[in-house]
Amino acid sequence: MVSAIITCAGSGERAGFGFNKLLKDIGGITPFEKTVCAFADSGVIDEIIVVCTKQDEEIFRKKCLDRSINAVFVTGSTTRGKSVKNGLEAVSGDIVLIHDGARPFVSRRIICDCVKTATKFGSAITAVPLTDTIGEVKEENGEKVLVSSSRDGKYAVQTPQGFKTELIRKAFSLASDDEVFTDESGVFAKYIGKCHIARGENANKKLTYAEDFSIGGNGRLFVGTGFDLHLLVENRKLILGGVEIPHDKGLLGHSDADVLTHAIMDALLSSASLGDIGRYFPDTDDKYKGISSILLLQNVLDLLNKSGYKPINVSAVIQAQKPKLSKYVDTIRSSLAKNLGLEDSAVGITCTTLEGIGIVGREEGIAVQAYCLTKKED
Ligand code: MG
Repeated sequence: MVSAIITCAGSGERAGFGFNKLLKDIGGITPFEKTVCAFADSGVIDEIIVVCTKQDEEIFRKKCLDRSINAVFVTGSTTRGKSVKNGLEAVSGDIVLIHDGARPFVSRRIICDCVKTATKFGSAITAVPLTDTIGEVKEENGEKVLVSSSRDGKYAVQTPQGFKTELIRKAFSLASDDEVFTDESGVFAKYIGKCHIARGENANKKLTYAEDFSIGGNGRLFVGTGFDLHLLVENRKLILGGVEIPHDKGLLGHSDADVLTHAIMDALLSSASLGDIGRYFPDTDDKYKGISSILLLQNVLDLLNKSGYKPINVSAVIQAQKPKLSKYVDTIRSSLAKNLGLEDSAVGITCTTLEGIGIVGREEGIAVQAYCLTKKED
C-alpha cells in the first residue's frame, strides 16, 4: 500500500497574497486541488494525507469533498520537519511519498517513478540535472565575490520524495527536534543512508513568489482581432498570406493588397494595443506602393518584439465567393507560419463563401477576420 503526504501547512509568506498561496486561483483551480488531484488520479496512491493548519482545514476538506477525493487531515506544526512527522504518524502504507502542496504540476510519470524507486531501494528523491550553473559566493571586504562555479553532477532536488515508511519514521525518530532540514532527503541521508534519485521534470516547479502563479509561466496572454476587406479587380495579382493564387482578378490596394496578412497584422498589433497598420504603413506613403505585405509583417513582428510580445497562434477566416481556396490553404498556412516564426499547427485558416450575399457574395471583394494570441513576458 502506498500513502502520500501533501504538505500544506506553510504560510507562503514569500508569495505575499495575505492568505495561503495554495488557495490562489491558477486558471479555475487552486494549486492545492491540482496537487491533490494529481495524486488521486495517478492510480498508484492508496491514501492521501493532507498536513495543514487548523485554520485552513475546513476549506481544504471542502475542496477534496467537491472533487470526491478521500483524504485524511492532520494538523501541521511550526516547521516542515515537525509537520511531516505528524503526517507520518497517520500513514498506513508501507511506502510513503512526501510532496509539497506548492508543486501542482507534478506528473503521473513522476509519481509512478517515485513509487517504483522507493519500493526498490527504500528511498526515491525526485530531482533534475541543473541547467543553471551554481556559483559559490562569499564576502570579501564587504563585497560579494564568486569563489567557484560548476554544474557538473549537480541536481535540483524536488518532491515527491518516497521512502519505505519504517525507514523514514526511524530517521525522524533519531533526529532531534531542533535539527533543521529543508526536506526529507536530508533527514534520511543523515540517519539512514544513501538517497536514490528518481527522474523529475523542470515543469514540476515550486510556486513560491507571486510571479510563479501567472498562467503559462512568467508572462501574460493577450488576444488580438483584426479585419480587412479589399476589392477584387482585373489586372491585379491575388496574394493571400504571401501566396499568389491563380485567378482572373486580384485585390486592389496600395501595397500588394494581401488582405489576409493585413488582417493578421492588425490582430497582432491589437493584441499589444499598438494601434493598426494604417498608423505604421500609411497608403499615402509611396514607400509602400506595391510592397509585399509579408515584408510589412516582419516590421509588425519587430514592433511587437520591442514591446515584449510574441505570437502564440493565429487564426483567420477568409471570406471569398471565388476562387475556391481550399486547395491552397495548406500552402498559405505554411507561408504564414514560416513568416510568423510559428509551427504550421499554430496557424489556423478557414475559408467560407457568403452565399452570394453582399460585396463578398457578389465577388466584388475578399474579406478576412483574423484573431491571434500573443504572450507578453513580464
Ligand atoms: Mg488592407
